[in-house]
Amino acid sequence: MQKTAESPLKDTSQPQSPVVVWFRSDLRIGDNPALSAAIASGRPVLPIFILDETSADLRALGGASRWWLHGALESLSRDLAKCGATLVFFRGQSDEIIAKLVAETGTKSVLWNRRYGKAERALDSEIKTALQEKGVEAKSFNGHLLYEPWEVATQAGTPMKVFTPFWRAARARGAPASPLPAPSAINGARITVDHWPQNVTLDSLALKPSSPDWSKEMATLWSPGEAGARRNLSVFLAGPINGYGENRNRPDMASTSRLSPHLRFGEISPRQIWHATQYARDSGETPGKDHDIEKFLSEVGWREFAFHLLYHFPDLRTDNFQPRFDAFPWSDNPAGLAAWKKGMTGYPIVDAGMRELWRTGWMHNRVRMVVGSFLVKHLLIDWRRGEEWFWDTLLDADPANNTASWQWIAGSGADASPYFRIFAPVLQGEKFDPKAEYVRKYVPEIANLPDAFIHKPWAAPPEILKRAGVTLGVTYPRPIVIHEQARDKALAAFKAMGTAATSQAA
Ligand code: FAD
Repeated sequence: MQKTAESPLKDTSQPQSPVVVWFRSDLRIGDNPALSAAIASGRPVLPIFILDETSADLRALGGASRWWLHGALESLSRDLAKCGATLVFFRGQSDEIIAKLVAETGTKSVLWNRRYGKAERALDSEIKTALQEKGVEAKSFNGHLLYEPWEVATQAGTPMKVFTPFWRAARARGAPASPLPAPSAINGARITVDHWPQNVTLDSLALKPSSPDWSKEMATLWSPGEAGARRNLSVFLAGPINGYGENRNRPDMASTSRLSPHLRFGEISPRQIWHATQYARDSGETPGKDHDIEKFLSEVGWREFAFHLLYHFPDLRTDNFQPRFDAFPWSDNPAGLAAWKKGMTGYPIVDAGMRELWRTGWMHNRVRMVVGSFLVKHLLIDWRRGEEWFWDTLLDADPANNTASWQWIAGSGADASPYFRIFAPVLQGEKFDPKAEYVRKYVPEIANLPDAFIHKPWAAPPEILKRAGVTLGVTYPRPIVIHEQARDKALAAFKAMGTAATSQAA
């Protein structure tokens, strides 16, 4: 390939310098503002992805998310190729790679969609400044949220800390902008960088697990990528949305959209979800009733709220939102933590949830609340340990939703469930998994217990246990804590925290 003086790596048949589109958590071609702006510029488009495991403070992805990311990138790469553009992969420090691209390709413009975590924002703003100092356009867009975190505020202009007024204020802004159409053709930049050590193939990013490969079941359940996201949304709008308001609490039913990992990696935008849902309602194409639709949109609203919190309280992952929780007497309980992670607590609904997570990379929201409450309140283990485990094992592990939800469960968060609200695992199981179909699926060793005892095997008479082939302490654990005692202990610890916080303040 011939090199020009201005752009040594550029194909001379493309006289214009390319526009770089830096993909991060926006792995789609539809409703992608950065990509659309690049195409609209009329210049060749160079789509890039950087696996940055070296920039300071960026949190490494968990194992499940890495698996998903591989599939999402594979799908994006295919979709871009169909339009005429090649997604170029790099591994290394983002600022260095972008600086080198600019220097060697003559790029005059780098575009991206915004991210909202503390380290990501710091890095993006550093890169933006460095580019602008060199006279290179660096432009960012909103591709991840319905409204930017700074667009929704109290009347005094301060951040919102309670969901209901937040959502009311967000809704008062009117319908979010209509989604941008997916391009059918892209003038892809013809750039060769394969002699750079940082330029790699998708496979060599080694995102998929190998020894052992624990992803086989996940691969049968999920289709990372834009097409999979669209399919989940249309399946949901055509059926499960009807009754979502109530059924969304039932882990034994396929009653929710399962869009969370797709949203996490930006394979679908909340604007697309919003407008598709409104269209389905207005055209009568969905069986969902108004209250189901409003409930569904408000769950998307909880995601917005989590990003609002993360943006305004950037240390949400490490610091209690309510500082009085700094005095909470968390317990160092490695055996309890290990039993919880393995789904061996002796409480079937908790164990089913933790095993669903391990096997499928996802857990039903109601069960996430039950297992979260169990860790923090029955075992008195710091919510940060639970957040870390979810970060590693959830396909949808999200910097805003995971952190905000764990703080909500712990009682330390914004608009949180009060600490004294302790989920009773047996009652939760009986109420939301009444025929124990969920428990039987994920805890097969107790599947033969009758409905009356399956959520509390320790209460079953010996002959019933025997008939079901269950030997407590051998084939299935005895409860690692007694609910009533754990509850009293948690409430005492909560009280002690209040005393400690008061004496600290004194
Ligand atoms: P649906 O019910 O179909 O909802 C549609 C979308 O709305 C979801 O995809 C999600 O983006 C959003 N949403 C739904 N419920 C919530 C909620 N309670 N809070 C914030 N957004 C919500 N969600 C994540 O996406 N990533 C996480 O890492 C995460 N960690 C969690 C940890 C705990 C302890 C708890 C209690 C909840 C967590 N959630 C997290 C929220 C919620 O459980 C999931 O978003 C939901 O189960 C995803 O399933 P779905 O896509 O079928 O949801």
